[in-house]
Formats: sequence, structure tokens, C-alpha cells
Amino acid sequence: MTQAAAYDVAIIGGGIAGAGAGAMLCGDRRCLLLEAEDQPGHHSTGRSAAVFILNYGNAPIRALTRASESYLVSPPADISEHTLLSPRGHLALAEESGRAQFDALLGESQGLDPVTPERAVARIPILKQDSIFAAAYEADARDIDINSLHQGWLRKFKRSGGEVCTKARVTRLAHKNGIWEIETGAGAFQAETIVNAAGAWADKVAEMAGLAPVGLTPMRRSIAVIPAPEGHDVMAWPLVSDVEERWYMKPDAGHLFVSPADEDPVEPHDVYPDDMVLAEGVHRFETATSVEVTRVLRSWAGLRTFASDRTPVVGFDPAAENFFWLAGQGGYGIQTSPAMAQVAAALIMGQPTSDIVSDETISALSPARFRT
Ligand SMILES: Cc1cc2nc3c(=O)[nH]c(=O)nc-3n(C[C@H](O)[C@H](O)[C@H](O)COP(=O)(O)OP(=O)(O)OC[C@H]3O[C@@H](n4cnc5c(N)ncnc54)[C@H](O)[C@@H]3O)c2cc1C
Repeated sequence: MTQAAAYDVAIIGGGIAGAGAGAMLCGDRRCLLLEAEDQPGHHSTGRSAAVFILNYGNAPIRALTRASESYLVSPPADISEHTLLSPRGHLALAEESGRAQFDALLGESQGLDPVTPERAVARIPILKQDSIFAAAYEADARDIDINSLHQGWLRKFKRSGGEVCTKARVTRLAHKNGIWEIETGAGAFQAETIVNAAGAWADKVAEMAGLAPVGLTPMRRSIAVIPAPEGHDVMAWPLVSDVEERWYMKPDAGHLFVSPADEDPVEPHDVYPDDMVLAEGVHRFETATSVEVTRVLRSWAGLRTFASDRTPVVGFDPAAENFFWLAGQGGYGIQTSPAMAQVAAALIMGQPTSDIVSDETISALSPARFRT
């Protein structure tokens, strides 16, 4: 006999993924959002570079990014009264060793225009012209106001009757009589459907539910904030990156942040930067520019969690009843979050997704690809 669950949907994880899915579901379903930390957004969502780049990631990522653009440009008034994207630009640089990556990037991109090394240096005077073999500029790359988006979704969730429970790390999941029983640090709950939006911990959550992991790898990415080079107003500078992904930099509240673009696989944890990795990245930045870094103002690291094909995992797991994956967003989880949340809500409510992204994208996202 099936008993009634207290909630239709329990979302595990209060980052951008869980908050977005919750905001899209809450008017139609009784929803609970369970977050391990005392603040949603403590992990990857609170540690990103906050950029929206159309020419980034594989085909499903690009489709989800394109499908998210109009929502971020003109969000619903109950989420934010102002646009969530603001101009930034992206300058991609290649040394001679990066020729193949540069050609591949140009070949697969739209709105990414080649610029001469002279023009690149005219724009960013700290760059060393002799280390630039080729450059391209994407004017449409923008900053994302993550905080407004995340808080807007959480506010909508609560106003529509959704319940947020923090300090509620899920420790056990059992499916009995058609209901998920959920044990957490803040008590026990029941729900008909689980949404696994636990970021770097999503495979651990699946294991609690008796499922095989899909093979997610959390990868550390570190950032050092340095003072703006003397005599330069960096605020209007674009994001500058090396096509071989050895470093990138971006203005940050009057300073510059520099990343070694590291992708070191780690266990899911409250991650901090590795000093050696950070130093190596800063050195690569110094080699490409005229800047000598004498002071790091602060540093941090976050986890970018990838499936083996670097495509997110979104959909019901064919190996369990009412267990929904919303994980593996890698380095693109903010810029794809509106479309990802809409897809998740539509699939959970049994509604069509064809007005969001193509069927091909939906099947690329499906966890079924790991269950053959
Ligand atoms: C340095 C860096 C730069 C980035 N730059 C960009 C960028 O410019 N643009 C972009 O689009 N993306 C970027 N990303 C990627 C983006 O930040 C992530 O893809 C996104 O934040 C993932 O969101 P999430 O909600 O899945 O994960 P998280 O924000 O990590 O949320 C998962 C939540 O689940 C909770 N949780 C885990 N286990 C449990 C449990 N058992 N019970 C209850 N709760 C649990 C955690 O506490 C956490 O709050 C960047 C990431 C990093 C690290």
C-alpha cells in the first residue's frame, strides 16, 4: 500500500541548481529544499567567476546557455527587477603552442572575432605582444549577477510555499512503499520524488539511495585576487584567457583575479586553494604580462564537478523510482541554470521540453547514458 508523502518533491542541495529547480516547481508541487550548510550557496555557487560565455563548453552546454540567455537578460519581475547580465567581453589568447586549440575554438564559435595582437595589447596594455600568436574577442560575453538570481529563486520558492531547511545534511535515503524516507541532521522527512542537486556530493547522495554512482569528478579550481596593476583602471577590461587553459584573469571589484585554470580531481569537500598550484598560475600570468605579482590579497577555490563526457546529468534515473538527477554542471552551472531548471521542472511534471531545448539535448543530459 502506498502512503502519502509529506512533500511531492525533496530537493537535496541549495546551490543554484537546487534553488532554480525549486523556483520552477514550487507553485505546482509541495516542495522541500534540504541544504547541508547553514547558508545555501556556500559551495560552488558562491565561488564562481560569474561569467556568461556563449562559446564555451560542448554542444549540450552551448544549447543550454543559449536557452538561458533571454531569462538572464530579462528575468521575471518576481526574480529580479533588473537584468542579470552586464557587459564584460572575453579576449581569448593563443601562444604558438595553442594554435590548434585556437583554430578549433574559432571554427566552432559564433561571435568570436579574430583580433590582431596589436589590438589585444591596445585593449589590455599589460599583455606582452610577443607572447601572443593569435587572439579573438567575444563582445557578447557578460557578467552574471549570481546573487540576485540565486536569492530571487530562493525568495520565490519560499513565497510559493516551498520550505527551506538548512543545516540539514541528508545522511540516509530509503525508498519504501513508493515514498522516499529521508534522514537529515535536522530531522526526518518524506517525499515522493528526490531531486539530487548536491553538486560535488551528488554521487554520494545516489549511493545513499542504493544507486551506482554515475562517475562524477569534482575538480578544484583556484583563484588569487591581486591588486590592479599600478596606473591601470581594470574595471572595463574583459575576461582574458589562454586557449590552452593555463591561466585566466578577470577584473574583480577594482582588483584582478587570476586563476591557474586548474582541474585537479579531488574528493567532495569544503575546498581551499593549493598554494603551489596558485603560484604556478600566477607565474604563467606574469609570463604573459608585464606584471610582477608581489602581493595576493586573498584566494579561494571551488569545485567544478564533471561527468566523464563533461555534459550535465539531468533526468530520472532509470534504475530507481522517482530519483531525479540535476548534477555535473562543471564550469557552466550558472550560465546554464535557467534552462537547466526549466528542463528539470518540465521533466518532473511530465511536461514537454521541446520549447526549451531540443530532444537531442535532453537525451544527451539523461542519466540513462550511464545505465546500460
Ligand atoms: C572557480 C570557479 C569558477 C566558475 N565560474 C563559472 C562561471 O563563470 N560561469 C558558470 O556558469 N559557472 C561557473 N562555475 C561553475 C558553477 O559555479 C557550478 O557549476 C555551479 O555553482 C554548480 O551549482 P550546484 O547547485 O550544482 O552546486 P553547489 O553550489 O555546490 O550546491 C550543491 C549544494 O548541495 C549541498 N549538499 C551536498 N550534499 C548534501 C547532502 N547530503 N545533504 C544536503 N545538502 C547537500 C551542498 O552543501 C551545496 O550547497 C565556476 C566554478 C568554480 C569553482
